[in-house]
Amino acid sequence: MPRIIMHIDMNSYFASVEQQANPFLRGRSVGVCSYLSPGGCIIASSAEAKARGIKTGCRADKARILDPDVVLLENEPAKYRSTTEKIFAILKSYSGTIEPYSIDEAFIDLTGWVSDYAKAACLAREIQSRIKDEVGEWLNCSIGISWTKFLAKFAGDIAPKKGVLTIDSNEKLVEVLRDRPLCDAWGINVRTEARLNILGIKDLLDLRNFREDKIRHSLGRYGQYLWSNVNGIEISQVSDGSPAPKSIGHSYCLPKKTTDKKYLSQVLYKLCEKTGRRLRGNGLEASSMHIGWSYIRDGGYFRSFKTKEKLFTTEEIFRHANQVLEKTQLIMPVRMLAVSVGTLLPVTSQLSLFEDYISKKELSLAIDKINDKYREYTVVRGQMFNTGDMARDRIGFRKIG
Ligand SMILES: [Mg+2]
Repeated sequence: MPRIIMHIDMNSYFASVEQQANPFLRGRSVGVCSYLSPGGCIIASSAEAKARGIKTGCRADKARILDPDVVLLENEPAKYRSTTEKIFAILKSYSGTIEPYSIDEAFIDLTGWVSDYAKAACLAREIQSRIKDEVGEWLNCSIGISWTKFLAKFAGDIAPKKGVLTIDSNEKLVEVLRDRPLCDAWGINVRTEARLNILGIKDLLDLRNFREDKIRHSLGRYGQYLWSNVNGIEISQVSDGSPAPKSIGHSYCLPKKTTDKKYLSQVLYKLCEKTGRRLRGNGLEASSMHIGWSYIRDGGYFRSFKTKEKLFTTEEIFRHANQVLEKTQLIMPVRMLAVSVGTLLPVTSQLSLFEDYISKKELSLAIDKINDKYREYTVVRGQMFNTGDMARDRIGFRKIG
């Protein structure tokens, strides 16, 4: 018997929670922002805002041009977190195996809990109406059902908003893959799309039909992973037993050798963001860090220290790193900057007294997800600098850490 996996994804989640909480916002164009400054970015827009072209990643000032009536709100993670808890409590009544994937997404293994895909689809409808009845009438979700996690998420992603889509056979799978853009698949971003295009793979059905040995040859294990996904083969995420990294970090050689702390601080922020993303991507948190820079000649300045709190978000890493930079006198122009975090442990998930902190973690993960799908720095965390996007546009990066 095939497995029956359900994926649930709340629609326009943060914006819908805001509209649920405040009826005056319903039916209006709403954008939830990373920060409420002109350079802040929209991290979730309501259906009405989306209809006006205000998408995730859009800058707040641009959103106002697209729709002068848009209501921009600063995000309130604690609010979304408590709504998520209520939604997940409903999901838990249907299966013993729920995997929260993000603040507004989860996988549910229904194998054994329902006898077939038709019953799973009925359950999906029931879940949708229970969320509206028990959590909030303004909350909608898309649900996908299939036999692998990838296909369940894919079905949910291409399902109409508020809809349910079941991929229950290979015939149905071929039908939904045909002419489907590569970027519609989980794990394929614009860069991967370009690499697949070079192989002559133009849509997801081409990827399915491509020769397995050839894709492995061209794109390695990652290529095989993508191929298996669209062929309905589950690649289980069993830990391979390789040891966790001891430290995670990035360094950067500056195109402009300078003592300008404002510029250096911008570069530092990007290094912290890169470091933070890899930290979070590995499900780790850190409690020590290292920052340093090299001068154009005669060595440089390096400092390592333990931190009282666990480091997880980009802001936390940046705050510590920037403090060192601020406090230290630069004796000559700097040519290289480096940041790393260490003393790594799996991220603690138990609720602590600092619930808001956990919500910030989830917000960080949500932003990482957006950046994974589109491009680096689609969403930047806050208006760190008065110079807007200068650093983002001008500074290229190569990973060496
Ligand atoms: Mg969603």
